[in-house]
Amino acid sequence: LDRCIVGLAPRSGCRVVDLSFVLFEGMPVWVGQPGFLCERVMSVPGDDYTLHVVRRLSTHQGTHVDAPLHFVAGGRGVDELGVESFVGEGVVVDLSGKGPGEEITVADIQEYVPVIRKGDVVLLHTGWDKRAGSGDDYLFEYPYLVEESARFLAGLGIRALGVDTLSVAGWDGTAPHGPVARAGSPAETHRILLREGVILVEVLRNLGVVLDGERSRRGFFVFAPVTIRGAEAGPCRALAFV
Ligand SMILES: [Zn+2]
Repeated sequence: LDRCIVGLAPRSGCRVVDLSFVLFEGMPVWVGQPGFLCERVMSVPGDDYTLHVVRRLSTHQGTHVDAPLHFVAGGRGVDELGVESFVGEGVVVDLSGKGPGEEITVADIQEYVPVIRKGDVVLLHTGWDKRAGSGDDYLFEYPYLVEESARFLAGLGIRALGVDTLSVAGWDGTAPHGPVARAGSPAETHRILLREGVILVEVLRNLGVVLDGERSRRGFFVFAPVTIRGAEAGPCRALAFV
């Protein structure tokens, strides 16, 4: 691990895993947000050069970072956080035993307390990234944190929390799909973490590749968002060095 951290350069014996989704039109997005829209406005050879214009991109589409401002009034935006907020040592833990619409409980996390260190980046592997595009189970019925488990994680003094689902908290909307999260408030689940300064990374993928059959695996992680002035979130390219 040390050889990965020094200079952050991938060296022999260090794998780099891409934890980000590719953005494309028609990709699954949080229901209610306008879909991703990108247009090629110039093309080689006819126009001499190629140029794309992103016409529409919510700050929460694809793999992205949530800053405190997302749910905390007066909280810092993605442009106000130091870059050190977006890199760090940490651990991926296996929660792939969770079924559709299941809560991630304090007991689920307690199992991993011995491998979680203060200041860690903690990434929860549910395997839901594999369901992207499959419909309701990906959009609404993913395993999710409740207030109690968010409070427990924040209490461990972690630096960042990442999930391979659309959100850290459950779907509690009524249309086009009925509520999945029935206990507590998804907004409060976010707030508990963001108020404590825990940066959130959502819509990750390939956490199972990092685990490579283990229940937990330490590594060094980078999840630097695009900096948009005044924004509460930003799409990011997330990488694991393991
Ligand atoms: Zn978000």
